[in-house]
Amino acid sequence: MGNAFNLGRVFGIQFRLHYTWFIIFILITTSLSWQLFPSSYPDWSLLLYWVIGIVTSLLFFASVVAHELAHSLVGRANGIPIKSITLFIFGGIAQMTKEAARPGAEFKMAAAGPACSLVIGGLFALLWLFTRGTIEPIAAMAYWLAYINVALAVFNLIPGFPLDGGRVFRSILWQLSGNYKRSTRIATRVGQGVGYLFILGGILIMFVLRDWLSGLWLAFIGWFLENAASASYRQAQWREALYGFTVSQAMTSDCPVVPPSTTVDQLVQEHILTSGHHSFLVADEGRLMGILTLHNIKTVSQQNWGVTQVKEVMTPVDRLKIAHPDQDALSILEQMDEASINQMPVVSESRVIGLIARDNLIRFLHIRSRLGV
Ligand SMILES: [Zn+2]
Repeated sequence: MGNAFNLGRVFGIQFRLHYTWFIIFILITTSLSWQLFPSSYPDWSLLLYWVIGIVTSLLFFASVVAHELAHSLVGRANGIPIKSITLFIFGGIAQMTKEAARPGAEFKMAAAGPACSLVIGGLFALLWLFTRGTIEPIAAMAYWLAYINVALAVFNLIPGFPLDGGRVFRSILWQLSGNYKRSTRIATRVGQGVGYLFILGGILIMFVLRDWLSGLWLAFIGWFLENAASASYRQAQWREALYGFTVSQAMTSDCPVVPPSTTVDQLVQEHILTSGHHSFLVADEGRLMGILTLHNIKTVSQQNWGVTQVKEVMTPVDRLKIAHPDQDALSILEQMDEASINQMPVVSESRVIGLIARDNLIRFLHIRSRLGV
């Protein structure tokens, strides 16, 4: 997920904040300080509305962080390392470097988040019990936080993948059937179904109850869930298909290599237009210097093609991610996803031996499935 900035590390896990998170922060703060608190507690001062509104929003944020941290720490204790967590408009996304290997581990990890939210909700409910009638602003804040944490737990327990409830559901199916692939398929289908139900519910609320904002919001969440479920399913299929293959099996070794002094014009005339290749490795006597794609070429205006050498426009090797032939192909795909790139040069003993690219991987899997091998 792009457009996120680093917040820092907690227990060795990198927390990142996606820009959409600010939308939800502003939305919650203004609806609390502008609407909810003034209508329930008309005698507070304007300053108090905003102070309590902002503090409540920040504590809500801390609650979401605690929820994600619960997943991560339980995951790590069960052999699922978590690299980073990105907080965005709908909550948090944990970046796992691999999926759970056993249903028990997945169950514990998935259930930990909602369990944590329920505990936090309970603690705020206690705080509300002790402060109501005495410290009204604290009680008001505690009441809302108790409610929202329980709501967060309940929402996340909806059994559609990739929500926590969907992961719990998958782990139970997986435990019962022993079939990971089928369990994932069922849980993601249910996830898509839940998404469609939300969209339908949102449309009904919009047109029947004429509550446009709530309806739109619900439909938007449904759309997001449907998308996330389909994406998870595709990803699971990829994982399944690529499992066990190394980079050297899935790479292409006939990727064209050009010397660094080739001009852009030569490259276009002699390689791109005739061979149809889109990416080129730039190497000087086998030593990789960089990679060049059509994207790089488009940064040069056409009248300068004859005088521009490829080494001036290529992405230099120190900015590239490099694959090694004996790495597994799946981890390379994950690295490409993480860095939003489409190809990585394969280097062995400091010599470039090939290229592993997303479309090669697709072709590789397609051919294998057609041949049935
Ligand atoms: Zn969760």
